Amino acid sequence: MFVDSHCHLDRLKQSPEELAETLNFARMRGVEHFLCVCVSVGDYDSMLAAVEQFEDVSVSCGVHPLHQDEACSYEALLEKALRKEVVAIGETGLDYFYSPESKDIQLTSFVDHIRVANETQKPLIIHTRDAREDTINLLREHKAAHTKGVLHCFTESLEMAQAAIEMDFYISISGIVTFNSADELREVVKAIPLDRLLIETDSPWLAPVPHRGKQNQPGYVVEVAEYIAELKGVSVKELADITTRNFYTMFSLAEKKNAA
Ligand SMILES: [Zn+2]
Ligand SMILES: [Zn+2]
Repeated sequence: MFVDSHCHLDRLKQSPEELAETLNFARMRGVEHFLCVCVSVGDYDSMLAAVEQFEDVSVSCGVHPLHQDEACSYEALLEKALRKEVVAIGETGLDYFYSPESKDIQLTSFVDHIRVANETQKPLIIHTRDAREDTINLLREHKAAHTKGVLHCFTESLEMAQAAIEMDFYISISGIVTFNSADELREVVKAIPLDRLLIETDSPWLAPVPHRGKQNQPGYVVEVAEYIAELKGVSVKELADITTRNFYTMFSLAEKKNAA
């Protein structure tokens, strides 16, 4: 069974009925759990309302680095993050590729999220692009010994992946790995140990080959898994089993919800 470790179900352009069908399609393909990731604390309540009826969907809480116009205070973030249904903090992080001009506010927000992760003992979901040094340095500087997490939709260097793995982080790979242009990423994925890998769709964005150009959806995590299994020289089942186990090791609160 597969897990889509990172999707934005509230951002799919779908009615509630269509979303239910989308999740059913994924379940039929063997996807057993979905982590629906928050990008704006102001949208948290409406995101939760869209997915809370589904037993196999868990949620995070945070402000995406590119949504700083919707930034919130440390206190407001902590208040939501403490809620029992929240299994992770994020997505947070640094993106200097798309928004170098908001660097200062991104840094402040990222540190707030790390502090909230420490306070709540919930794992971090980190988005990082063209900000390798600052991301790793801030994690080293601010994270508590018990705080872990994932670098999601990873497209950076092996060196950065290894630095994160040393801090007990996981590396999540999206459909980008199937893109023609992703030769470097493929080499990185080959070198990351299987017991540190997660898979995701980042729906509704980044549909994997052969669905490029379409709206992405959680069921397509199967194509991501198939592609990575071939790269790693393991069976799809083996890749599914290990990435699913990794997911529940990292996001232990999601497991409790699934078992309930
Ligand atoms: Zn992201
Ligand atoms: Zn995302």
